[in-house]
Amino acid sequence: MTEKGRIHSWETCGTVDGPGIRFVLFMQGCPLRCLYCHNPDTWEISEGQEYTVEEIFKRILRNEPYFQASGGGVTVSGGEPGLQAQFVAELFKECKQHGIHTALDTSGSVGLKKILPILDWTDLVILDLKHGNLEKHRLLTGKTNEKIIEVAEYLNQSSIKFWLRHVLVPGYTDRKDDLEQLVLLLNKLERAEKLELIPYHKLGLHKWAALGLTNRLASVSPPSITKMEEVKNFLRSRTKLKIC
Ligand code: SF4
Repeated sequence: MTEKGRIHSWETCGTVDGPGIRFVLFMQGCPLRCLYCHNPDTWEISEGQEYTVEEIFKRILRNEPYFQASGGGVTVSGGEPGLQAQFVAELFKECKQHGIHTALDTSGSVGLKKILPILDWTDLVILDLKHGNLEKHRLLTGKTNEKIIEVAEYLNQSSIKFWLRHVLVPGYTDRKDDLEQLVLLLNKLERAEKLELIPYHKLGLHKWAALGLTNRLASVSPPSITKMEEVKNFLRSRTKLKIC
């Protein structure tokens, strides 16, 4: 348990990143630059604080009674956890050896080869699909989506449980052709347990300002409840996936 990782922060009672109550660890570092990112302070891998697996696992054990009683576990998020795959793999291995449920919240952007060692110890993957179109993916995140699709297709062939996430961003992911391209991708991922459609929000804008970064979505309003329902119904009519 000597592997070291750079950590942004953790949350002891997370309820949105996997089943039950969860210890959620946010890793430092991300290769993407999503326009809607609400954690730009996780981007730089040289920042955050270094901890060993043992140090983090001790903190997890302190909270174990809460999350085990709720059917929860540990989720590693970010940033992008795949950037520090050895650390996450070692942490998840320790969790599994103690009967703790593990979830990996990833964009898949580091590619399959890098995250494979983590998957050996992962019960659930929560995969963010940013855009179905390669060029629009680049506009939205700074990188194309081939590596993410490779991870998604691998998960679909594997026996690992996986959920999908997609952010509805007005003008970027909510147009008819954006949704059609998402449907094409979703229909190749029939083993996914569900797709969570998440509305774009502005909660992280103050972090961009604090870092001296310009946010190109600053003037974009979050989608309305009606628009969210309309898109969910469209996706339900075009895929067999559970959309929530
Ligand atoms: S993948 Fe996540 S952490 Fe990285 S830039 Fe996108 S939203 Fe931010």
